[in-house]
Amino acid sequence: MSGDDDGLGTYRRKRRFDRTEEPEGERAGGGEEPRYVVQIHDATSLHFDFRLEWDGVLKSWSVPKGPSMNPHDKRLAMPTEDHPLDYRTFEGVIPRGEYGAGPVIVWDEGTYEPLSRDFGKALAKGHISFRMHGGKLRGDWALSRFRSGEDGEREAWLLVKKSDSHASSRGTPDPWRVRSALSDRTLKQVREEPAERWTREGGRR
Ligand code: MN
Repeated sequence: MSGDDDGLGTYRRKRRFDRTEEPEGERAGGGEEPRYVVQIHDATSLHFDFRLEWDGVLKSWSVPKGPSMNPHDKRLAMPTEDHPLDYRTFEGVIPRGEYGAGPVIVWDEGTYEPLSRDFGKALAKGHISFRMHGGKLRGDWALSRFRSGEDGEREAWLLVKKSDSHASSRGTPDPWRVRSALSDRTLKQVREEPAERWTREGGRR
């Protein structure tokens, strides 16, 4: 599959790749364990971007308040367009005037284990459970659609931590204080050093 037939047409139509450093990407085969990434993005409003690798793309939700470790918190998750797998390591500043303008950090990354039987079908039906194996997010979570988006309203889901040994009352950490899993920088540092490129080791490329 190529071009707009690979499920990333919406993603590409929203962006101008001669102006943003975000990857153009393509549908790709994954490794053995599907991966996830949670980015923090200070666009029109600050939000967390929650992305699960599935079927060669990153299924994506925008979570305004971010994932909470507390099973009592139900976090609104608005679906957004599928992103390419390469987006997993995107960190930087989307330029002013472009779609999603503002700084992005990779807050957390890792792999996840689908718990729902026939995960693809469960995703289409609007209820998935999965076990996260990340640097920060761990244990079992659920994403459930509560509004279909069919009657003119936007489709909407809830992201909820399940009760297990990884649950806690800590909620969500302050998005302005946390550091990137890739570069150890804060959102503010990324905003102030847009031209810098950092590797995982913390050196400049
Ligand atoms: Mn975003």
